Amino acid sequence: MKTMEASNSPKNSVKDATAKTSTPGKMVYFFSAKETDGHAGMKNILGGKGANLAEMCSLGLPVPPGFTISTENCQSFYDNGEKLPDALKASIEEVMLKLEKVTGKKFGAKINPLLVSVRSGARASMPGMMDTILNLGLNDETVEVMAKETGNPRFAWDSYRRFLQMYSDVVMNMNSSFLEVALEDMKHAKGYKLDTELTVDDLKKLSAQFKNQILEGTGKTFPMDPKEQLWGAISAVFRSWNTPRAITYREMHGYPSSWGTAVNVQSMVFGNMGDDSATGVAFTRNPSTGEDAYYGEFLVNAQGEDVVAGIRTPQPLTIKEAEEAVAAGQKRMPSLEEVMPKAFAELIAVFDKLEDHYRDMQDIEFTIEKNVLYMLQTRNGKRTAKASLKIATDMISSKTITKEEALLRIDPKGLDQLLHPTLDPKAQKTVLAKGLPASPGGAVGQIVFTSESAVQWVEAGKKVILVRIETSPEDIEGMVKAQGILTTRGGMTSHAAVVARGMGKCCVAGCGDVEVNMQTKTIRVNDYILKEGDYITLDGSTGEVFLGEVKTIEPSLDENFEYIMKLSDEFKTLGVRANADTPLDAKVARKFGAMGIGLCRTEHMFFAPDRIDVVREMILAEEREERLHALERLLPMQRADFEGLFTEMEGLPVTIRFLDPPLHEFLPTTDSEIKELARRIGRDEHSLKNKIKNLHEFNPMLGHRGCRLAITYPEIYQMQARAVGEATANLLKKGKNVIVEIMIPIVAFKGELQRLRRVCEVELEKVSVAHGVKLNIAIGTMIELPRAALIADQIAEHADFFSFGTNDLTQTTLGVSRDDSARFLSTYVSDGLLPADPFQTIDREGVGQLVKKAVELGRQTRSDIKLGICGEHGGDPNSIVFFHEIGLNYVSCSPYRVPIARLAAARAALQTRKVQH
Ligand code: PEP
Ligand code: MG
Repeated sequence: MKTMEASNSPKNSVKDATAKTSTPGKMVYFFSAKETDGHAGMKNILGGKGANLAEMCSLGLPVPPGFTISTENCQSFYDNGEKLPDALKASIEEVMLKLEKVTGKKFGAKINPLLVSVRSGARASMPGMMDTILNLGLNDETVEVMAKETGNPRFAWDSYRRFLQMYSDVVMNMNSSFLEVALEDMKHAKGYKLDTELTVDDLKKLSAQFKNQILEGTGKTFPMDPKEQLWGAISAVFRSWNTPRAITYREMHGYPSSWGTAVNVQSMVFGNMGDDSATGVAFTRNPSTGEDAYYGEFLVNAQGEDVVAGIRTPQPLTIKEAEEAVAAGQKRMPSLEEVMPKAFAELIAVFDKLEDHYRDMQDIEFTIEKNVLYMLQTRNGKRTAKASLKIATDMISSKTITKEEALLRIDPKGLDQLLHPTLDPKAQKTVLAKGLPASPGGAVGQIVFTSESAVQWVEAGKKVILVRIETSPEDIEGMVKAQGILTTRGGMTSHAAVVARGMGKCCVAGCGDVEVNMQTKTIRVNDYILKEGDYITLDGSTGEVFLGEVKTIEPSLDENFEYIMKLSDEFKTLGVRANADTPLDAKVARKFGAMGIGLCRTEHMFFAPDRIDVVREMILAEEREERLHALERLLPMQRADFEGLFTEMEGLPVTIRFLDPPLHEFLPTTDSEIKELARRIGRDEHSLKNKIKNLHEFNPMLGHRGCRLAITYPEIYQMQARAVGEATANLLKKGKNVIVEIMIPIVAFKGELQRLRRVCEVELEKVSVAHGVKLNIAIGTMIELPRAALIADQIAEHADFFSFGTNDLTQTTLGVSRDDSARFLSTYVSDGLLPADPFQTIDREGVGQLVKKAVELGRQTRSDIKLGICGEHGGDPNSIVFFHEIGLNYVSCSPYRVPIARLAAARAALQTRKVQH
């Protein structure tokens, strides 16, 4: 379909899109078929729209001539008290003369008047965020001239009423709905359905009425002087840079306010000149599937805003699209290909030329005036993740772009869309609340409040969303069964978030607007009260909670995904492992390309329903003997766990992290639960209650956890080391290739690691002798406390490897509890105090420096020490860039983020090599 030829080397790129090549002192840049000041590499100065208009002119495409007022003038406008500086006005007047000469028209003249559009255009596209004015230059006189000269009074008056509406809204702050109501009233009174049915007389009446309404509404007469109109419109576009919606959009995308917007003034062409005129938008490829087929829509006899306003249903561009719509049960509408074949042929020739030139899929705006095609905009088109993979793959095979460029064009975070079911973007939605986007994907189900109900309801064939204030390890079964999890407390590294991500399950965490009442089994969200069994929908990618059932779309991994993943592996230097606790997690991780397990949290194995009571007996033991007895019973279970995991990961390294959480987390809390437990394990209820009370900690995150447990109760790690050793020995004897590493958590002092390493070694040695097998098991530590990072040289004396536990390291460096951070950290981010949530994206300046320091110190002691990271940051693309820069060997993240990490690691490697794209 494309005319693009495959060649042996990628085509030349347009000039560097960020290059700053303004001429000092130049405020206004002209573009026309003959003379053009700018080019596509000047986005910073001309904005995206202006730069591409200039580029299209240079390519010889049919662009109505005009000029771009550079972005630098936006700041001058604000510095000048929101007034256009005189020097700028003078430059504009000068360039307007040039425009008059090129077009052969005159601004405000009574013969052949020049009309212009005034449109915003920042460096990056901010769709719908800023303002546009069309048909500027019309007034009570020029409208009559236009009517006469074109012989089409309906067109002239339709343009005038549109101009009155747009200008009064954008420049004069008139409430646009008043004029809209007047128009609708007129249509109603006349029995019309469409705007196009309004007659010349109707439009004349409407225009007069609009002017009166504008006077009443604003206290000002509508300006008849075209120059005054022009100053007003340019000022309004500059002002629209700072409307609340534009500011919010900038904040969301991290665009600084210092960029400013450019203003494009362009001679008008008219899509509303009759049935041989039209306006439309198009993509050179399908932006949702990536298919190499033109895609777009248009309206006959209309102006630009009609297409987006949805007043009339647009028609498809191609016969193919028209027929596909019929196949999807919609009405057959005539396509542009059929209605205006000549203009269509011109348009596709332009598509091919543009795509060939920009070497990317283009998003285009066009107008057809009396069968003649004009281009109004082109830019690299936004696309779904699926489309981005297909387009990248296709463009590599046509040698349009290099493999490196292709990888740099794909947003790793976007891959989330492909790995989980997502909400149908076309579905109607009512937002109830917004929490943290803790684990991506969409989930629909009936509300349940306990893990037990989740299990029961699912067994009864229902789909549920588990709603909890926060989850604890005991909720695990319910979490497994639920479609999604909603918590009202807790941050991005809270239990719910970490576990849900590990399972690839949708989770919205820390949703403070939702009040849970466990007594009445209801939730209150603003004005809504929902009860158990009511439907809600979660979007774990945005953190939104919706009322009722929203349609979801299933993920599909195609050959393009596989290809891009393979390509990523060619370029990345960082290894990617997964955080996985079960053989099932390991299987998913392997499927997604994990090169090992970087973190198996063994405590998750302790919570299994068939062993939790034995674990509790171990914890509640009064005597060491009693504890040893319980551990003896746990040993075969742990050994079986490890055998399962090692078998699944055969040939790849598996890091087993020994028990970390404080012991009381495993114990029941309510009186009835304690009573039940006492009965089951044959203990006195009263003494049990006292023991549990004694184990209570004020700040368990900073309490008796991790290696501290094993300093007091070495027998726990002894049992775990034995289980690891025996599982390894058993599999080695069966000829399996198992590679195992033991990891000790929460180390602060070198003595802790020294002692516990010895404990493990002794145990492994015993297993080795008993089984007659040589065990080669590395023993390392997590670096997750600032002290450990600062004395990493000493710690490295006893560690074969380090794995940075950046969840705890962030918590302890910032002094911010990882479970309570959601309540206030979001304000830090929205107020710009922090660039991102430090529990999601590594705080380079603080936590990052500790990691860097520990890397240097660790390598000082042991140049070959293996270095990884297994905190949640291991799956975050921005953090991965940092980990690549400081030379870690691998990142480890939840299985569903492995593909994201692979691509992010490849991009990090390419960015370090400064590959242009
Ligand atoms: C960490 O602290 O970063 C870590 C991976 O350990 P956990 O989340 O289990 O505390
Ligand atoms: Mg930790």
